[in-house]
Amino acid sequence: MRATQLFFPTLREIPSEAEMINHKLLLRAGYIRKVAAGIYDYLPLGYKLIRKIETIVRKEMEDAGAQEILMPTMVPAELYKETGRWDLDVLFKFKDRGYRDYAIGFTHEEIVTDLVRRNVRSYKELPMNLYQIQGKGRDEARPRGGVVRGREFIMLDAYSFDRDWDSLDSSYAKMYRAFSRTFALCGLEPLAVEADSGAIGGKTNQEYMVITPAGEDDILVCDTCGYSANSEKCAIGETKIKMSEEKFNALTEVETPDTRTVEQVANFLKVSPKRIIKTLIYKADNKFVAALVRGDRELNEPKLAAAAGVKKVEMVEPETALEVIGAEIGSIGPVGLKKEIKIIADREIAGMANAVVGANKTGYHLMNVNIDRDFSPTIYADIRVAVKGDRCPKCTGKLKVEKGMEVGHIFKLGTVYSDAMNAKFLDDDGKEKVYVMGCYGMGISRMLAAIPEVNNDKDGMILPITVAPFEVTIMLLNPEIDDQCVAATRVYEELTDKGVDVLLDDRDERPGVKFKDNDLMGTPIQVVAGRGCAEGKVEIRVRGTEKKEEVALDDATEYVMKLRDEMFAALRDKANKF
Ligand code: ATP
Ligand code: MG
Repeated sequence: MRATQLFFPTLREIPSEAEMINHKLLLRAGYIRKVAAGIYDYLPLGYKLIRKIETIVRKEMEDAGAQEILMPTMVPAELYKETGRWDLDVLFKFKDRGYRDYAIGFTHEEIVTDLVRRNVRSYKELPMNLYQIQGKGRDEARPRGGVVRGREFIMLDAYSFDRDWDSLDSSYAKMYRAFSRTFALCGLEPLAVEADSGAIGGKTNQEYMVITPAGEDDILVCDTCGYSANSEKCAIGETKIKMSEEKFNALTEVETPDTRTVEQVANFLKVSPKRIIKTLIYKADNKFVAALVRGDRELNEPKLAAAAGVKKVEMVEPETALEVIGAEIGSIGPVGLKKEIKIIADREIAGMANAVVGANKTGYHLMNVNIDRDFSPTIYADIRVAVKGDRCPKCTGKLKVEKGMEVGHIFKLGTVYSDAMNAKFLDDDGKEKVYVMGCYGMGISRMLAAIPEVNNDKDGMILPITVAPFEVTIMLLNPEIDDQCVAATRVYEELTDKGVDVLLDDRDERPGVKFKDNDLMGTPIQVVAGRGCAEGKVEIRVRGTEKKEEVALDDATEYVMKLRDEMFAALRDKANKF
């Protein structure tokens, strides 16, 4: 490809709307353009990178035994209604001329389960794994970071159907390997972290998190055993509770006008947030529970749900709190609560003495509150979000916190969807059984963002050779000079003949512009046809390194091929670890 024919509108200015590095770079290098919030055009360079990821994905999926299909983008409402997902607020909905309801597919469990339910009969056809690469629509509350969180985005979604859990384990293991290999081949080394299974339920599931300060998720990683988990999920290892040695003081009620948050109460009473017990009222199924965590901690809802023995808990609305407790949310506390409200206290609370809590009277707090003298928790449980320094749940190590960008999510769904949709096959014992399913999602367009987010320098992207839109750029510095033209064209043709993806920068631009644009674009190997051509030499550079080599024109192609092969081999070696 010649740069004179390539549509890549680069920008000199950093676009003000962009905060994340990848977003700035993708806009500046002419990879993407915004159409509307969370909706983007992929220009030739961006789309080429996406297609290279897709090629890698297809090969790894096929090697893992999955088969490619393409399901519709338009999903009839009835299918999402079968599992109750029609009501999710991420759905983009529309009607046809007959006023029938549809949504843009946001993930395709229902559609694929319906396909299999209607067309697969016997255990002999299992295991089956079907995948697709498709544009998805989600009406995200906060689209951000360009293509990191789009409202339309490209996803790989694969779905496995097995006879039983053992067989699912093996399907899952194959997909774990295929995902890990795909990321490694794309130059990403995400951590596979334990994740919360959310409202879907199901068992084991792991998220692939690229560790970067631009990530949205908090990931806890053990400094000793390497265990890692999303903070939504991470359990805290049990340690002996340090009991306060303070003497119990007399309970006192104090007026705390206009204080709603822990911070406001702490400032008003001049106490540390660590002395405050935060009381949060939740609805668990149809009962109310009071959850207690130390003032400086955050409650973890999935953990609370587990402790309450329900699937999901919901924080009550202020009006409900007022009605049930008789006080506004900022003034609620555990002392004197109605008996039917179960008190679930975080384990850490047990060690506290002379604490501050809401008085269950708007605008008042109680000071010097002591457990078992003034109130007693129904149970203690691990219900707070794990933080840096907490004990690892698997060993005696300590947890540290990293930021993660989720590029994939693999999930042992079990029978959640097949039960809801009555999707059955005939097993070898002549009995009808529901499928045991897995689902596997990869954010392909998010990878377009993640790859430059972690592979860049001040000059631009530094792309892995496997996904770079061009593997090699040949910079013809002065198209008016014959020997430079001849040299550039020769290397270009020789490399193209060998199947290398080469860009010939033949634009009528100053050399400085060519260097800048090519660095920005991130092409890993650059061949410079400049003054040296007069002596039969070109310069070969490796993006992101200081490496520069003058090479005889006759040897240039071979030299580039060797560099290229080494780059591919290095990424393959990483993938082969899985
Ligand atoms: P997130 O927590 O980031 O919203 P999710 O849990 O909703 O992700 P899944 O439904 O598991 O994501 O989708 C599979 C993959 O698709 C994710 O791991 C992520 O890489 C990608 N993805 C999800 N939502 C978006 C989006 N709005 N834009 C781009 N990629 C997305
Ligand atoms: Mg989401």
